[in-house]
Amino acid sequence: MNRKKMLSVIMMLLMLLACVPACQAVNPPNPSNPSQTAEQEHTGVQAAPEASSDIRSESPSKGETLIYAHIGEKTLVIRPENNSSAEAFVELLQDGDITVDMHDYGSFEKVGPLGTTLPTNDESITTEPGDVILYQGNQITIYYDTNSWNFTRLGKVQGMSPDEIRAALGEGDPTVTFSLKEDSEGAIAVGVFDFENHTVLLNSGYTMPIMGLGTYSLDHDTCVNSVKALLKGGGRLIDTAYMYHNEEAVGEGVRQAMEEYGIPREEIFVITKLYPNQFDDPEAAIEMALKKLDLGYIDMMLLHHPGTNDVKAYKAMESYVEQGKIRSLGLSNWYVEELTEFLPQVAITPALVQNEIHPYYQEQDVVPFIQEKGIVVQCWYPLGGRGHTAELLGDETIVSIAKAHGVSAAQVILRWDLQRGIVVIPGSSNPEHIRENLDLFGFELTEEEMAAIRALDRGEKHDWY
Ligand code: NAP
Repeated sequence: MNRKKMLSVIMMLLMLLACVPACQAVNPPNPSNPSQTAEQEHTGVQAAPEASSDIRSESPSKGETLIYAHIGEKTLVIRPENNSSAEAFVELLQDGDITVDMHDYGSFEKVGPLGTTLPTNDESITTEPGDVILYQGNQITIYYDTNSWNFTRLGKVQGMSPDEIRAALGEGDPTVTFSLKEDSEGAIAVGVFDFENHTVLLNSGYTMPIMGLGTYSLDHDTCVNSVKALLKGGGRLIDTAYMYHNEEAVGEGVRQAMEEYGIPREEIFVITKLYPNQFDDPEAAIEMALKKLDLGYIDMMLLHHPGTNDVKAYKAMESYVEQGKIRSLGLSNWYVEELTEFLPQVAITPALVQNEIHPYYQEQDVVPFIQEKGIVVQCWYPLGGRGHTAELLGDETIVSIAKAHGVSAAQVILRWDLQRGIVVIPGSSNPEHIRENLDLFGFELTEEEMAAIRALDRGEKHDWY
């Protein structure tokens, strides 16, 4: 019996013995990882402090306003500081965009007149690349290097390495437009789905598509074809993992599609994962993933599930974010307790948590717990997982809703996820299914239909990972 099957059997036995619906387990016990609790006890991890204050300083939370600095075709995403100066700046931008002609100063900053005076909150600051500073109340600067002075911090650029910030600001004197809008369409807030563009803004400052393709169990050629079918059909999000043994195929599919369909790399978002047996030497594992994917950088890397040395592995991923080789970080199979213990130990709040979620296993307590932190939730096994799809896709509640909208049962389930604010990555080896799974925006489920699917929850976990 393979590891996964054995875990499923253990899990089913546990559920039978306990006679407790698994849906009540906000933190499902993890039978495969007995060392985890012992290890955490050993490290003496304290109960987490009030999460909000810690997390506030690290990354934006759901619905938080961000400022965009548009420089030509580049955009810096700035998280406003928590002070009256930044508040006044945001209020000013609510009246309209502000364009500043900046010049290079001191080989560490771009600076220009704001055209008005804001309240100051001066303090002694040694700047880092990405600091946005108010100088003498009426000049705004974006730092790409270090300087120490008394001035007011207005915000910080999110999710970009120093080199990327330098490149966006350019060599000369840039014209920078500060705006509350990501583009001309409207203001975008962290974690809130943009149903027009089919994307969500992550707390890392990067934008991720809200529907894509999962590649678990797709062998090389099938995987290449599925990735290409997704990209040809307009999808831009792909999920893989070291453990799926198909990172090379994903990279190959993406490169072929970029060339054949003329898709720029920046439009495509590839997620991969480190497996716990790699946590011991995470740098080597990350280098291997970069090499196998061969796409220049990794859009997002997750820890596949909790395990010994998970904090060490995450910190290594953080250092690759600094280097610009990974853009956003996340976790998979982390629940309330695990997150509460983990988050205070790391510097970069994960942008995403990927967990099992489908109509028979809805994680109704875990999902809002994660989302309220500004962390996006993504579901694996959205259709129940291979071998389990028939019952879900034949469920009479789901089928009758599908008939009412003239769509398939799979589309109803995926749309239900999106309307809960959950990103979907259905796995498929069938180009027809892949096209169908991208076609989720021509209908909307009513509140009654959402409630009817919610009532299907029976705490039926189909796998551990
Ligand atoms: P899934 O998406 O729930 O189900 C995949 C199955 O659904 C396949 O048999 C596929 O068959 C079928 N299917 C897909 N679209 C369909 C449609 N429109 N109509 C009818 N059938 C359809 O399961 P999954 O692929 O295992 O999970 C999704 C992804 O989550 C994985 O691929 C992987 O990337 C990720 N994942 C992560 C973890 C973790 O621990 N982090 C664990 C498991 C999975 P066809 O091939 O014929 O389309």
